[in-house]
Amino acid sequence: MNSMEDTQVARNIELNDGTRMPALGLGTWKSSFFPRTSIQGAVETAIAAGYRHIDTAYSYNNEVDIGKALQSKMKQGIIRRQDVFIVSKLWCTHHAPEDIPVCLNKSLNDLQLDYLDLYLKMGDELFPKKDGKMLTSDIDYIDVWRGMEALQASGKVKSIGVSNFNILQLERLLALCRVPPAVNQVELHPYLVQTELIEFCKSKNIALTAYSPFGSPARSPKLIREDADPHKLLEDPVVADIAKKHRHSPAQVLLRYHVQQGVAVIPKSDKPHHILENTKIFDFSLTDEDMRALRGLDRGWKACLLDEIKSHPYYPFV
Ligand code: NDP
Repeated sequence: MNSMEDTQVARNIELNDGTRMPALGLGTWKSSFFPRTSIQGAVETAIAAGYRHIDTAYSYNNEVDIGKALQSKMKQGIIRRQDVFIVSKLWCTHHAPEDIPVCLNKSLNDLQLDYLDLYLKMGDELFPKKDGKMLTSDIDYIDVWRGMEALQASGKVKSIGVSNFNILQLERLLALCRVPPAVNQVELHPYLVQTELIEFCKSKNIALTAYSPFGSPARSPKLIREDADPHKLLEDPVVADIAKKHRHSPAQVLLRYHVQQGVAVIPKSDKPHHILENTKIFDFSLTDEDMRALRGLDRGWKACLLDEIKSHPYYPFV
């Protein structure tokens, strides 16, 4: 491969239902622990910078602001509805058959959209608790999935997928479903390589989206595990060396790492300079040696530990 070809990774990932998902998306998760900043502004900046994939969820409590940003950019003629890939997530408070469309309709209303490009089944009050413990739904995810299939049949959702599913859960879902999941959105980065899961998903034609690609550095101390890794991914010396060699930033290396493997990635930022920086990942390529060195950082470290739901039968999911 010459260097021109090397840099030519797919900017879109073809899903098993024939639709296409842009490989780079904007993550928009904002915890109420943080001071609220302008999600609307971030999404508008991202669209102006070329992002065509926005990741949100009912539980992120930001869909109204994202809807305003989309409307504004559509009115300005920058995008048409069909140009953007909008992802949202069904929350565990809405797993009963009659509640599934309610959750979707709330997201659609807030986003001011007629349909979603991808709806993910996750495992929110947004995070309901009883006796200090997080409540999880005891409805079988296969039954929830049938509700997701019905949403797709209604046309209000183009593609359906899952998030935080492990191989065991996927195998059971694949054995019993009518529509296989198009996407599995999971935490992935060089500290959590998940080779087996990636190989499994590829073998079953399930696309992957990597969340928390920088290890979610701004996560509230309440949400990270006590033995939080002392090395911060964005400051890791191996990542820094590779970045220096390619005259790109550590963040760009961490994003390129995914798209070069055919995995979509959804970095979160509300800073215009970061939003722009994170788009510049298609003009260089990592060598096999770089990829090996990045994979060599694996330590099974998860930023998103979901400790609160340890009692769930499928914990720790992935
Ligand atoms: P990320 O790993 O994307 O890290 C976000 C942090 O990195 C922010 O503090 C941001 O700061 C900073 N950052 C962004 N760009 C740069 C840059 N170029 N240089 C330096 N720092 C940078 O964490 P998230 O946990 O937010 O994951 C991304 C998205 O994945 C979420 O927003 C959400 O959409 C999704 N997600 C899905 C989950 C699921 O269960 N399905 C769970 C967790 C996340 P700043 O804003 O100041 O730029």
